[in-house]
Amino acid sequence: MSAEVVEPRYALAGSIGADEAGEPRLMGGLCAGCGAKVFPKPKICSSCWSTEQKDVALATRGRLYSFSVVHAARKGWPSPYAIAYVDLEDGVRVCAPLEDGVANPPPLDAPVELIVGTLRTDADGVAVLSHRFKPVTEAR
Ligand SMILES: [Zn+2]
Repeated sequence: MSAEVVEPRYALAGSIGADEAGEPRLMGGLCAGCGAKVFPKPKICSSCWSTEQKDVALATRGRLYSFSVVHAARKGWPSPYAIAYVDLEDGVRVCAPLEDGVANPPPLDAPVELIVGTLRTDADGVAVLSHRFKPVTEAR
């Protein structure tokens, strides 16, 4: 067994941060010009064209706006998988895989929360991680 520490590979560099407790946070952009929050962080604001975009930790919970099951996946991706739009509690709409969405499809508007998991495997067979959402089963 190797003691080598392997840094996680993320599908979108800089998209996953951590809070003080080490829990994952989705990192978006906060526009210094108009206050718009978006994910992923853009180079330029689509509302006011400001190029001053700050990093902001987004809400970890939201509601399932919609999702679809994809049967023809890209190479390295599991198939089938569910891809969703989630409306976060801070008003940002995010596109992400929906955990367990194929086997146990949740109703629309179901509460969901952020997790980090394997999006695909790369050419070396190494897991590439991304943000995902899973239905919330316990009371907050
Ligand atoms: Zn703006």
